[in-house]
Amino acid sequence: MKVEHVIVLGHSNCGGIDALLRGSDDALVGEFIDQWVAIAKPAREAVLRDLGHKPPRLQQKACEEASILISLENLLTFPWLARRVEAGTLVLHGWYFDLDMGKLLSYNPDNGQFETLA
Ligand SMILES: [Zn+2]
Repeated sequence: MKVEHVIVLGHSNCGGIDALLRGSDDALVGEFIDQWVAIAKPAREAVLRDLGHKPPRLQQKACEEASILISLENLLTFPWLARRVEAGTLVLHGWYFDLDMGKLLSYNPDNGQFETLA
């Protein structure tokens, strides 16, 4: 794999995340929810724990963003990939497309925020 950049792209109004948030634990392990959504299950748990009292719209966005970060962490569990990131020959990006604002944002690990891409 000669690529130098890998982008994990999440987006607003995501049906997969919606299913993840609203589904029961039983449904998550069921056949209706794809495996990639199951990977984001820790995001669901964190959102329900920390933002359970917030409006659903805010929970959804937080879960969408957290899922991007989990996917990035998941990528780093592949040793060959982690080695390349460490060596600086591969850069991972977490992007979020906000459909309502028509904006593309990128995760900044320095401040933990998704920032508008120039
Ligand atoms: Zn989606």
